[in-house]
Amino acid sequence: MEQIHQLGRLTLVNWPAHDRSRPIVELENVTVRYNGNTALENVSFSLQRGEQVAIIGPNGAGKSTLFNVIAGVVSPAEGQVRIYGDTPDEHICIAYVPQRSRADWSFPVNVFDVVMMGRVGKMGLFRWPTRRDRQIVRQALEVVEMDHLAKRQISELSGGQQQRVFIARALAQEAELMLMDEPLTGLDIKSQEAIFSILNRLRARQVTILLATHDLNLAADRFDRLMLLNRRLIGFGSPDQVLTHDLLNRAYSGHMRLIDTPNGTMVISDTCCGGGEH
Ligand code: ADP
Repeated sequence: MEQIHQLGRLTLVNWPAHDRSRPIVELENVTVRYNGNTALENVSFSLQRGEQVAIIGPNGAGKSTLFNVIAGVVSPAEGQVRIYGDTPDEHICIAYVPQRSRADWSFPVNVFDVVMMGRVGKMGLFRWPTRRDRQIVRQALEVVEMDHLAKRQISELSGGQQQRVFIARALAQEAELMLMDEPLTGLDIKSQEAIFSILNRLRARQVTILLATHDLNLAADRFDRLMLLNRRLIGFGSPDQVLTHDLLNRAYSGHMRLIDTPNGTMVISDTCCGGGEH
């Protein structure tokens, strides 16, 4: 648990302990209900540090709810969530990378300042950024190749660039776990490639990624492990283990078609996304 000691004007914050011998995320028989309606049921899994996992499933499958229980924003009705063996609340090592469409782009703020917001958890609200904070922000912008646009207004960026700024903000927070809510949706292939090359850089830094996507083929091509969700955890494993007719039918029941092609099974789901933005 976080402890705050007030020492005159100085505030020291002790974040929850990290027992790195434990999985970065552990869910044990987690059930979440909203007003009696079950959004997640008896979900158990664990992630090791540095893993990158795609979450797939139809609309309403519980993907956002899963992010919320991991972030400690929603409490499970039953079961346990642990982050490095501790309760999920107060962990600033977890960053939520939102869907672009959920952000308010009319807010007049530049790229550097948005990424600096990631430092607030570490600095506290009432301290000016130090040289080290600014250096961390610059490095985060370099990782996502947005350093040349640091002074640009966030509203003037393309969709792919805005997504990269969100990832930089999570990096500036020194997040060890990033919960990415459909970061690929609506991006053209070049911008998706830019996100994948950033994911490779994050892999090298041992940042753990849980990424929600509607694109099953992309998930299969780019991720070693997939989580197939529809209220329950229907499958969790390699693309070959998860993308079977049986499991897909159980998850999407009626919301998709499976077409056998010479190159494998093609999935056409009802929840695809328009696209083409860069
Ligand atoms: P997904 O992200 O996969 O689309 P969600 O986690 O948003 O799924 O939703 C799972 C289920 O929980 C849906 O039936 C949704 O309507 C319901 N739900 C999600 N958030 C809330 C909430 N705050 N209050 C009530 N019901 C909710």
